[in-house]
Amino acid sequence: MDYKYAAYRPFAGTIKTLTVKRNALGEFFVFLSCIQEWPDVPARTGKAVGMDFGLKHFLTLDNGRKIDAPMWYKSSLNEIRKANRAVSRCKKGSGNRKRALMHLDRVHEKVANRRKDWFFKLANELTSEYAVICIEDLNLDAMKRLWGRKVSDYAFAEFVSILDWVALKNGCQVIKIDRWAPSSKACHVCGVLTEDTKDLRIRTWTCPACGTVHDRDVNAAINIRNMGLSMLIA
Ligand SMILES: [Zn+2]
Repeated sequence: MDYKYAAYRPFAGTIKTLTVKRNALGEFFVFLSCIQEWPDVPARTGKAVGMDFGLKHFLTLDNGRKIDAPMWYKSSLNEIRKANRAVSRCKKGSGNRKRALMHLDRVHEKVANRRKDWFFKLANELTSEYAVICIEDLNLDAMKRLWGRKVSDYAFAEFVSILDWVALKNGCQVIKIDRWAPSSKACHVCGVLTEDTKDLRIRTWTCPACGTVHDRDVNAAINIRNMGLSMLIA
């Protein structure tokens, strides 16, 4: 059988692999992986920022700015839940179940595309404002153990990989600090370590040594920036 394809996006470089996939809806997709020469973008100089990932706020910057996931983010999770329930209500092997599964597939795809789009916009904004971005080197497995299923959609890992890529193009450096570094346990003013912040529900705390009142995430972001910058100098 012959197939025609519509290239909705031009490709560049030399094609290395070509994969044809068919989804549950019977639609075909052609995936090309290409090798392309990429000019080295020299690292810019400019402002540095530390960022803390969280469940309450997607990102907290060391200047106190909190970036929340857009409203659709939450509503799309509801949409997925609803589509999931529809599947479980249908009898196994039935035509209804097949249709419900197709719908679930569609919803997943839509949500993934929207999320990716938002990630790219955010990564572009951050990498054009800052020349150096310090983040924690996230271990997804550890996060899942700690936080449960909420992050199992790998959103953080996906964002970091997009950030890495966009930063490379914009001459911005992404510095990842050791995930075991005590970014949320240390007071950024006097350096004392405390176990008081162990509980993730604690949003503000007072340093037992110097008395500074900290916003949990902002303090962590400041520590992440300081640690990242010390790695840059080292
Ligand atoms: Zn202190």
